[in-house]
Amino acid sequence: MKGVPSNLPSLTIKSIRDGLLGKQFSAAELAQAALAFAEKENASTNAFLTFAPERALAAAAKVDSEIAKGGFVGALAGVPLGVKDVIVTKGLRTTCGSRILENYIPPYDATAVFRLEAEGAVLIGKLNCDEFAMGSSNENSAFGPVRNPRALDRVPGGSSGGSAAAVAQGTAVVTLGSDTGGSIRQPASFFGVVGVTPTYGRVSRYGLTAFASSLDHIGPLARNVEDAATVLQIMAGRDEQDATSAYAPIGNYHEAMKLPVGSLKLGLPREYFEGLGAETGDVIHAAVKQLKGLGCTVQEISLPHTKYALSCYYIIATAEASSNLARYDGVRYSTRVNGDTLSEMYRNSRGSGFGAEVKRRIMLGTYVLSAGYYDAYYKKAQQVRTLIARDFTNAFTEVDAILAPVSPFPAFKIGEKVDDPLAMYLSDVYTLTGDLAGVPCMSVPCGLSPEGLPIGLQIFTKHFDEATMFRLAYAYEQSTSR
Ligand code: GLN
Repeated sequence: MKGVPSNLPSLTIKSIRDGLLGKQFSAAELAQAALAFAEKENASTNAFLTFAPERALAAAAKVDSEIAKGGFVGALAGVPLGVKDVIVTKGLRTTCGSRILENYIPPYDATAVFRLEAEGAVLIGKLNCDEFAMGSSNENSAFGPVRNPRALDRVPGGSSGGSAAAVAQGTAVVTLGSDTGGSIRQPASFFGVVGVTPTYGRVSRYGLTAFASSLDHIGPLARNVEDAATVLQIMAGRDEQDATSAYAPIGNYHEAMKLPVGSLKLGLPREYFEGLGAETGDVIHAAVKQLKGLGCTVQEISLPHTKYALSCYYIIATAEASSNLARYDGVRYSTRVNGDTLSEMYRNSRGSGFGAEVKRRIMLGTYVLSAGYYDAYYKKAQQVRTLIARDFTNAFTEVDAILAPVSPFPAFKIGEKVDDPLAMYLSDVYTLTGDLAGVPCMSVPCGLSPEGLPIGLQIFTKHFDEATMFRLAYAYEQSTSR
């Protein structure tokens, strides 16, 4: 054994596999090194909320013993994995970034986690996030924000900020995030890592703490397109535990990814570029040019209902959240704070357990669902959602993929938007539509702003056509790293 490479931040699934099978290091050595590195870095970044040394070392020992006896070596053998703390892990604290679940120990594993561990992934810990995944900057975590290790005065993005930070820093090689309105793609773009939101139903939501059930997705974050595709390939597919998980065929992402892209037709939605500043716009246009250079044809398209996405999302997401979060009442789930009467106990438990943003959303959601307002707000928003989804269906009769920015601006300063919820909500204007339509979408790093901050290119494809999305992203990535 030559020992664990000192370049933890540049490891990939493939380099780990080569290292293990080439006997350069053991899975146990790698797990120990990753844990030590993650614990040390956490002092400045706060990316992890809980470490899982026992679980990690047990998983690594199993990988090592299988390799020693020439047994089953899973596709993720020895790969250090971090999981956003809204995804449950058996016997391992899962807080959802909230005081109300500060001591919650789940009795089961999410299907996504179960499938990755079955392929040899080594779960090293749980990652910080906005409370119940509500936010765009991680400033809503009850355990303090994640600090962006690339620029400590900037937000990491949210809500899966810990998941993006860990990949960028190299404290985990791949991570899981969740995306309801952009929470995987936006932090991925702020960190210059790859973040994928699969088609709604592609990955089981069993074990993903519900925020807005019709919009919630689990997806991977990784250092390159290939690693993200590998993780999705393993997690994808029907799960009897989630009635909304799809039977749709998955295909082979690795084969699809390597196909040439010269025949692909790409659309640039006018609505996403109209108010876009040069800081982000120039970088996106350069990426589009690069894809043209690979032979893709590019045309302008229109997704005419984009302007309604923000209002539509904040009605549907808050409505579903108000219903989903009713279970944290000090009785069925969550920390109880006693009171003299039953209603006082509810009020004390929820009042002290939830943070301000979560309360704001519960109130908004309860309002839009209440008698007299349901038709005017909730029902209307569902109708608008259909129109937004139809925009994508229509566009995909003309083009194979849609290109857009992920965020109107790169990582902003901590504290800059925290007192202005509407300004914060606007950071999601380009990502919400993908979740509302349920189409697959991702962020691929595509360059730096003049200030040196990473910018992500967003790719959307048809429902269940992750293969074309990876193909394009991979071709782009290869053409830039040459
Ligand atoms: N930032 C959006 C929100 O606050 C999206 C969150 C998410 O995707 N989980 O709702």
